[in-house]
Amino acid sequence: MSQAPRDIEQLIDLMARLPGLGPRSARRAVLMLLKKRGAVMAPLARVMAEVAENARDCRFCGNISSAEICEICSDERRATGEICVVEDVADLWAMERGHAFKGRYHVLGGTLSALDAVGPEELRIPVLLDRVREENVTEVILALNATVDGQTTAHYIAEVLENTGVQVTSLAQGVPIGGELDYLDDGTIGAALRARRRF
Ligand code: ZN
Repeated sequence: MSQAPRDIEQLIDLMARLPGLGPRSARRAVLMLLKKRGAVMAPLARVMAEVAENARDCRFCGNISSAEICEICSDERRATGEICVVEDVADLWAMERGHAFKGRYHVLGGTLSALDAVGPEELRIPVLLDRVREENVTEVILALNATVDGQTTAHYIAEVLENTGVQVTSLAQGVPIGGELDYLDDGTIGAALRARRRF
């Protein structure tokens, strides 16, 4: 039985879909928002609407941006010839927090998965090939997670790139098995990047 008005219940249901929030925490968060309607809820709603309206995937790398081409791809200083391939935008953010990588990225949007029927076309692998051909790329650094699907994807990409003449490397695995980039501290990412090896 619902205790809150229907629109507030709907808000709670939507909030409960967020990672880390179940129905209980969602209810608490919504209560807090309702108590701070002016200071927190109104600005939050405004910024959310703005971001929802403007956010898009960068045409080249798949990074989330409010422009058609993201800041990293627009920055000429980052045209180092290195492209770091990551599964998800969260991994890109993690790499950026480490301040160790000066090149550009390519966000796949997931990993190959037979179980979930994710093939190369579902990921941004064809776009990666186009970029390697068109952007003077010398090295592709695979920064995929050490999961089975992550490694399957890494091998597939290395195979696809084999005849392009580009060097394929991967992050050194000081990364714990099954460890995801997003959970690593910034120093570890930097060390794994410096110690990268031929894939
Ligand atoms: Zn971009």
